Amino acid sequence: MAKRAKRRESTLVVLERNGEDAEHRTAVAVQDRRLKFGDDWSYAPAPESNSYIKLQSRYSHFINGKFVTPHSGKYFDSINPATEEKLAEIADGNARDVDRAVQSARRAYQTTWGKMSGRERGKYLYRIARLIQEKSRELAIIESMDGGKPIKESRDIDLPLVAAHFFYYAGWADKLSYAFPGRTPQPLGVAGQIIPWNFPLLMAAWKLAPALACGNTCVLKPAETTSITALRLAEIFQEAELPDGVVNIVTGAGETGRAIVEHSSVNKIAFTGSTEVGKRILKALTGTKKKLTLELGGKAANIIFEDAPIDQAVEGIISGIYFNQGHVCCAGSRLFVQEGVFPQVIRKLRDRISSLRVGDPLDKNTDIGAINSRMQLDKICELVDSGVRQGAQLIQPTLRLPKKGYWYPPSFFTGVTASHRIAQEEIFGPVLSVMTFRTPDEAIERANNTPYGLSAGVWTDKGSKIFKIVNKLRAGVVWANTYNKFDPTSPFGGYKESGFGREGGAHGLLPYLSLT
Ligand code: NAD
Ligand code: MN
Repeated sequence: MAKRAKRRESTLVVLERNGEDAEHRTAVAVQDRRLKFGDDWSYAPAPESNSYIKLQSRYSHFINGKFVTPHSGKYFDSINPATEEKLAEIADGNARDVDRAVQSARRAYQTTWGKMSGRERGKYLYRIARLIQEKSRELAIIESMDGGKPIKESRDIDLPLVAAHFFYYAGWADKLSYAFPGRTPQPLGVAGQIIPWNFPLLMAAWKLAPALACGNTCVLKPAETTSITALRLAEIFQEAELPDGVVNIVTGAGETGRAIVEHSSVNKIAFTGSTEVGKRILKALTGTKKKLTLELGGKAANIIFEDAPIDQAVEGIISGIYFNQGHVCCAGSRLFVQEGVFPQVIRKLRDRISSLRVGDPLDKNTDIGAINSRMQLDKICELVDSGVRQGAQLIQPTLRLPKKGYWYPPSFFTGVTASHRIAQEEIFGPVLSVMTFRTPDEAIERANNTPYGLSAGVWTDKGSKIFKIVNKLRAGVVWANTYNKFDPTSPFGGYKESGFGREGGAHGLLPYLSLT
């Protein structure tokens, strides 16, 4: 009886019009009215062809313009995280290999690159940028195969930005004196550069382009799970006839990186990676004359005010945390929602994550690709478990994940408190921690309550509020009504445990110059 009465209550009466009879319709409950996505909507597969990609079975170090076998004779496998198949073998570098690379860079600095006019250096950088553009499809596919990121991101975001960085710094090469009026900019010498696996080619570009524009020579070490595109870039340097030794690439894991950091003939170290390793490098360099820049982790606050355009903000939350599987140092991993819009934001977020497609990185419809490595997947699972154990509520869509490979569904937590590990530590995966606030001051205080300070986001309709909040957020980059936007002309870098030094823009020249 009670059930029937309830039914009747929710019947809609459409009023009589043009003399026609009144019409009775049954109202549909809100939860039934929601569109269901997930597996109900099937897409035809749209895989990017990779049949023409020819990888070498083995990649050696790139030293003095040539590919040379590692001193130890040892290689390790680079695998495709979406299939767990081996793609190629990568040379395992030791201190002897690093020494060869540094000596080659020193020679090139003294004999060619350090003496060359900025105008001539610029020509090489323009040539490299154009070659990257020419080969960008192929490079994007390899980036997705080796690292697991969706092709629509490697094709439309990573590769265009890689080329844009080389173009941008090519433009600076002959204009350094204008960047620092009244000063005489001088290159530092040999730069040792160590990069992570989340944006393999883009991080290589962020490191190499400004260093070369300023007249330095480089020894670069890619991350051990994603070395292949850096070595493809080495082939581009050969094709561009970049003088031998100007860029040297030594592959390997942490020990190889340490050998670069500790080499006595390196003038500058630029590192992007974890805060833990960053701290170790800082210690190792204390008391030496080597210059240092560190780009480390983050736990960014993305702040949504009640007056924000909520639909756009939800898209910003999505791209803030699920872009590149959440393997992003500036990811908007802590979401602060003003209380009045909390239920609405959560409802929309829940709907939106169930429409994200997780799977084959080479499929053009894929939103979330493979987790970069088993190690990273284990780390994500461990932190998510801690969140559940500490009492937060985990929300995940139901979806079928491929059997092979490393995957994690887009997820978020509600009921998170500031002391939970998932509110403090970098998860570096597609997992968001949602919290609420009442006043702008509370939002600022909670946003700054972290050892990190890399980035933040603010969503509001009021320009004045944006300026007020942005000035009080202790973060290197703050996006307003957008998130994860990158441009070579815009400096990027952190405060506090997120590191120091800036990459990008005119600011990005400074770490590679001495000014007299
Ligand atoms: P990591 O810091 O261990 O590795 C980054 C790079 O440093 C790699 O090339 C690695 O081989 C090298 N390296 C490792 N130990 C070194 C040492 N002692 N001396 C010199 N170089 C060394 O980072 P990871 O293991 O790849 O990832 C761990 C965590 O780091 C991630 O979960 C994430 O939190 C963070 N991370 C941050 C960024 C970022 O862009 N800020 C990027 C990747 C990872
Ligand atoms: Mn790989």
